[in-house]
Amino acid sequence: MIQQRERSLVLIKPDGVQRSLVGEIIKRYEKTGLKLVALKFVIPDEETVKKHYLSDKGWLESVGKKAISAYEKKGIEPPIKDPIECGQAVLNVLLKYIISGPVVAMVWEGSEAVGVIRKITGGTEPLTSDVGTIRGDFTIDSYKLADVDGRAVRNLIHASGSSVEAEKEIKIWFEDEEVIKYRLVQESILYDVNLDGIKE
Ligand code: GDP
Ligand code: MG
Repeated sequence: MIQQRERSLVLIKPDGVQRSLVGEIIKRYEKTGLKLVALKFVIPDEETVKKHYLSDKGWLESVGKKAISAYEKKGIEPPIKDPIECGQAVLNVLLKYIISGPVVAMVWEGSEAVGVIRKITGGTEPLTSDVGTIRGDFTIDSYKLADVDGRAVRNLIHASGSSVEAEKEIKIWFEDEEVIKYRLVQESILYDVNLDGIKE
């Protein structure tokens, strides 16, 4: 892969759409210089969302471990102690959440796209996401509140966790021809070695 062509799949989840944050969220990614190469507005079906989260073999276990350690860090006994079982419980509530309404699906491309997007998006739990990130700035949800109510953490966005995960996810949400190959004029200022043609 050419480095400037790393891609990330982003979903503005149903709560992002309902909070009227579509423009604000796209603006934040767009301003970095990353290139928008695919976009659609859809109500996802259960099959697509299952495929999406289970495309990464280790996801169930890692999401479970993350949830358990978040409880432990706060000195609270986790409700489920087995990581895979805990991951499965997260997936069940997550499915309901993602298919509850329209989402915006996008592919962003550019140097270190996955890392740049994760940085701007912020950590999974809005309560502890950094200030200045989308999740930190625009919502207040926590694992505790979500788990007590038996629902997924509403954190506005999905963003690919790695380049490998991104490529699998893009195939789930987009046909090849829906991902557009084009040149953005600003790419020369971001990536070209020579800055020819600016001065008159
Ligand atoms: P992400 O990559 O930051 O979105 O986080 P993960 O891939 O680990 O988890 C996927 C999604 O599941 C998150 O964005 C949350 O919406 C939800 N989620 C993750 N962990 C938990 C949890 O411990 N409890 C609840 N209720 N939801 C969770
Ligand atoms: Mg993830």
